[in-house]
Amino acid sequence: MKAVYFSEHGGPEVLQYGDMPEPSVGPNQVKIRVHAAALNRLDVYSRAGVRGTRRKFDDGPHIPGADAAGEIVEVGSEVSAHKVGARVVINPRQTCQQCEACIGRHEEYCRRSGMVGSSTTGSYAEFLSVPAASAITLPSSVSYEEAASLPTVYLPSWSILVRRAALQPWETALILSASSGVGTAAIQVAKNVIGSKVITTTSTAEKAQKATELGADEVINYTDEDVADRIKEITGGRGVDVVLDHVGADFWPAASRSLAMGGRYGICGVTSGYRAELQMGAMFTRYQTVFGVFMGRNSDLQQIVEMTGRGVIRGIIHETFPLEDAAKAHEVMEGLSFFGKLVLTM
Ligand SMILES: [Zn+2]
Repeated sequence: MKAVYFSEHGGPEVLQYGDMPEPSVGPNQVKIRVHAAALNRLDVYSRAGVRGTRRKFDDGPHIPGADAAGEIVEVGSEVSAHKVGARVVINPRQTCQQCEACIGRHEEYCRRSGMVGSSTTGSYAEFLSVPAASAITLPSSVSYEEAASLPTVYLPSWSILVRRAALQPWETALILSASSGVGTAAIQVAKNVIGSKVITTTSTAEKAQKATELGADEVINYTDEDVADRIKEITGGRGVDVVLDHVGADFWPAASRSLAMGGRYGICGVTSGYRAELQMGAMFTRYQTVFGVFMGRNSDLQQIVEMTGRGVIRGIIHETFPLEDAAKAHEVMEGLSFFGKLVLTM
């Protein structure tokens, strides 16, 4: 099969397009003909071999890519819930479906979990085999490109806003960095699914305009405005009820200071840095919660896909590239001047 892979860590130039063996299908797996794969920051890290992704290539070249949508072409001998020909999107976070956490409906705590494209071979390929439980059927109104752009940005947004923080329609959410994939997803979940007030941050007037179009009520340009001061002004000194932070250290001081009484602070990424100073006094006297989320449950993805099918939320795609141009797509991702997802098609 055709695939994009790398045999050494480095810049976008280490990505090669060529032939790789087709994956086999296990008894509880489905094999998918991938039609679209979306890029994530994790793909860039694993290509560069940074942030704990360094590998030895003992098993040969590695195919990256977590997000994928496509058509089922083969089902394992134990699979009854899926049929050949079904259109599906996958949850890239794969769980064992057998342990205490998985059985107890807390599959996000599965200790035998892994990510497609990190612990297994990835989605920059014509074919991909995944556990049947992680393949979610798509409504006909959702294209493969849009479907592939959903999981990695919507799962953490959904887990934080809908499930963990239980953001309410009368509350205010702060979504950091509107232009990233997670930002575009979280604004829509907070606004279109929950109906809360949304404050977001970004760096240019053009990105601010797009954030407003997505549903943000207030956009703070952090290059020329003080984030904490503006939030204080917007909320009348009260602060925000929920923060969704996938940026990390850079915005923590301003965002954590802006948390209201009873506020919930969800972290799902640390792009700008891992370490921050926690004001423990403020936390307990102000009844605040800080928590982390990595991805989400298969049932979360089912709900996300359902709401996308109804047109309540949508995947925001900046640009699509043919699979063989994956290196070009990585260059765009590293350039940081994009809004939404970069998607490979095959
Ligand atoms: Zn498990």
